[in-house]
Amino acid sequence: MKIVILGAPGAGKGTQAKRIAEKYAVAHISTGDILRENIKAQTPLGIQAKGFMDNGQLVPDDLVVALVADRVQREDCKNGFLLDGFPRTIAQAEALDKIMPPDAVLNIDVDTSLLLKRLTGRRVCAKCGAPYHIDTLNGATSCSLCDGELIHRADDTEETVGARLKVYEAQTKPLIEYYQAKGKINDVDGTLAIEEVFAACCKVLDGLQ
Ligand code: ADP
Ligand code: AMP
Repeated sequence: MKIVILGAPGAGKGTQAKRIAEKYAVAHISTGDILRENIKAQTPLGIQAKGFMDNGQLVPDDLVVALVADRVQREDCKNGFLLDGFPRTIAQAEALDKIMPPDAVLNIDVDTSLLLKRLTGRRVCAKCGAPYHIDTLNGATSCSLCDGELIHRADDTEETVGARLKVYEAQTKPLIEYYQAKGKINDVDGTLAIEEVFAACCKVLDGLQ
């Protein structure tokens, strides 16, 4: 099962990807999480990526494609993988088609007006990356999954979110048509409650098996 999960920043890709990866026993590959780990560890990739990420811009295609090309070959991808946050440009999608074309694409659809609130209120676990929202945290400051500290991502400020949404419209949204032309798009209403969105994703994925 080789799946791509598409959607604007804040659409709920990470939230759904964690649940899907667990249920279907596939590897969850979040390029954003991998890049943030590289920044933390101050690797050459992290050092190159940081400036782009802080400004809400995309990291250059060649760097991200190389990262994914290596990651999908690992042992834990034998049963399949779920790509979250990749591809983000047509060039990345074309590269993926050469490496390992996806079987299906889930497109989590959420109106732009909801995204700002979702992103500025998001808190993520510094250890495992699990996303939360201040509206439902009831003051909790640690991750319910691994007890890691919950942090406010540096790019989840109102200012940077605006830039990220513009980048999505210009560079990532065209991927919907790209995959539509290949008959691979499955739209999911991302404005519903988390469990309802998950049920809709499972319906699509169960149909593939
Ligand atoms: P993405 O990975 O697409 O950027 P996340 O999964 O991190 O998005 O979700 C962004 C924010 O929206 C988080 O704070 C998350 O808790 C919240 N969220 C995700 N899905 C839903 C949903 N269906 N309804 C309400 N809030 C959601
Ligand atoms: P995310 O965690 O998916 O919201 O990604 C956070 C940031 O990481 C993005 O704003 C980009 O700067 C960078 N990034 C993540 N995935 C990609 C990708 N596929 N291509 C380019 N940049 C990426």
